[in-house]
Order: sequence, then C-alpha cells, then structure tokens
Amino acid sequence: MHDVIIIGTGAAGISAALTLKQLNKDFLWIGPKNLSYKINSAEKIRNYPGLSSVSGKEMKEAFIKQINDMGIEILERQVTGVYDLSTHYAILCGQDTYEAKSIILGLGVETIKPVEGEIELLGQGVSYCATCDGFLYKGKEITVVASSKEFEHEAKYLASLASKVNYIGLYKDIDMNLTNVEILKGMPNKITKENKKMKLHLKDSIIESDGIFMLKASISPAVLVPGLEAVEGHIVVDRNMKTNLNGVFACGDCTGRPYQYAKAVGEGNVAAHSVVNYLNILK
Ligand SMILES: Cc1cc2nc3c(=O)[nH]c(=O)nc-3n(C[C@H](O)[C@H](O)[C@H](O)COP(=O)(O)OP(=O)(O)OC[C@H]3O[C@@H](n4cnc5c(N)ncnc54)[C@H](O)[C@@H]3O)c2cc1C
Repeated sequence: MHDVIIIGTGAAGISAALTLKQLNKDFLWIGPKNLSYKINSAEKIRNYPGLSSVSGKEMKEAFIKQINDMGIEILERQVTGVYDLSTHYAILCGQDTYEAKSIILGLGVETIKPVEGEIELLGQGVSYCATCDGFLYKGKEITVVASSKEFEHEAKYLASLASKVNYIGLYKDIDMNLTNVEILKGMPNKITKENKKMKLHLKDSIIESDGIFMLKASISPAVLVPGLEAVEGHIVVDRNMKTNLNGVFACGDCTGRPYQYAKAVGEGNVAAHSVVNYLNILK
C-alpha cells in the first residue's frame, strides 16, 4: 500500500508530486505522461511568476524536464473510481486496483458537462474507459464520443475490437481512417436505453448501438469519488485543501475558480504538506 496516490498530471498534480518527492515521501502518481492537454494548449502564458512569456509547449517541456530530473515516475492510467475502505482507499484503473492511505485529487475541471442520462447509465451501456470496458464490446457496434484528439488512440483500440464504431470527434482534424469507423457530426444531448440498445441523441438524429464510450480527460469528481462533497462540479475544500473525506485532499482547477496555473501549483503544494501532516497523525 502507498502512503499517497496523486491523481492528475496537470499543474496541481505536478506541484504535489514535486513537493512529496522533495520531502522524500512514498507516493504513486497516476495520469497522462504527456501531462495535461491544457498545459500544452496555452498560446502564451504571461502571468506565471519567473517566466515572463512562455508558450504552453515550452511550459510542458520545462515541467517534464523537472519531473525527469527529480526521478519521478508517472503511471499512465485513467482512474475509474476511488473507494473509501474506511482504513484506506482503493483506486480502480479498469481491472487493476491500487491502495493508499491518502489521496490527492488534481483532476482539473470537466469542460464537457455530462449529457442527460450519461451518469445514470454509467456502467449500464455507457463507459468512460476504453481499456477497462472495450472487451465487453468485441464484435459489437459501439458509439464513441471523443472530446479531444488525444483519445484517438483509445478509439482505434476500440475499433480493433468492435464490428463497427460510430465516431463523433468534438475537435478539428479528425484522423480515424479505418474501414469499420464511420465519422459522424453532431453534438450529443441525451443518452437513453431501450431493449438493451443504447441511443445517443443528437440534434436531428439518434445513433443506436450496443454501447457508448464518452472519452474525456476529466470525470465529474462526485462520480469518480462516491461521497465526495462537490458544489457545481467543484470539490469543496478548506484552506488545507482537505475535502469532506478523511485523507482525501484536492487542488487546482477541480476546487474552483480562478482556473490558473499559479493557483493550481500553490494548492498542489499545500495539499502535499497537508497529506504529510495527515500521515504523521495516522502514525
Ligand atoms: C487554452 C488555455 C490557455 C490557458 N492560459 C492560461 C494562462 O495564460 N495563465 C494561467 O494561469 N492559466 C491558463 N490556463 C489555465 C491552466 O491551464 C489551468 O488552470 C491549469 O492547467 C490547471 O491545472 P490542474 O492541474 O488543476 O488541471 P489540469 O491541467 O486540467 O490537469 C488535470 C489532470 O488530471 C488528469 N485526470 C483527470 N481525471 C483523471 C482520471 N480519472 N484519471 C487519471 N488522470 C485524470 C488529466 O488528464 C490531467 O492530467 C489556460 C488554459 C487553457 C485551456
């Protein structure tokens, strides 16, 4: 069992990881190795102390160098659930479980709100995780809604299993040129289920299939962590970044506005120190 698991490799998670490493603590860090797409996408950052004008790409390269220089590893998985086992927490990544005494959530903020029926049908035909649930749809027809280009490799994996993929990419320059993939246009607004068939409702049409994958970087925190207090999609924290769950801390955009790097790294640092205090009290 780990002392701490950090979820998220954006600015908040990076700051928490650097601080825990500096304090010589045991932790597992889960998220994309390529860090957050938000870091990469900023054209120019002018309000980050010490860096007068950097692009998101330059900032990302600097973060990656620092992570490598400190010898910190990232486990590239998507967390699909965090469960309170009363003495510690179980973190689910598809079929695999990791355990920790405490958790730091640096999840970012969900930019694409769940459509009607999405949360209610999660695990009953709707999935957020290609690698976890893809095998359930071997030889079947599925619908994939991808929020950004970074999910194309997951969608291609799904296409290698499914008989047909109806693909909706909510971004430009879609590159999904596979024989069993049909690219469709439209903005999903509702999901329903009838006679075991899943229906994705667009403005003027309905796509019917056996399963729907909603691929996006951030999942609503209260869905990811049952029992976690959140208001309007933001995790409720105190000044120590403590949530309503014992041993669970949160930092960065997921705790609320302003959505800024400086706030995220500051909160990541506070969360790491708070976790250390928490672990000391546990002893
Ligand atoms: C185009 C653009 C320009 C911007 N410009 C500026 C600027 O100039 N100045 C400024 O201060 N801010 C700017 N921002 C805002 C800044 O990018 C964010 O405030 C910052 O990235 C927040 O960091 P974070 O770590 O809280 O969240 P994020 O950067 O969103 O990182 C969240 C991380 O959590 C991971 N994650 C989420 N759920 C899971 C899960 N279930 N399992 C595993 N990993 C998960 C994500 O993949 C990601 O790695 C800009 C944002 C954008 C989009």
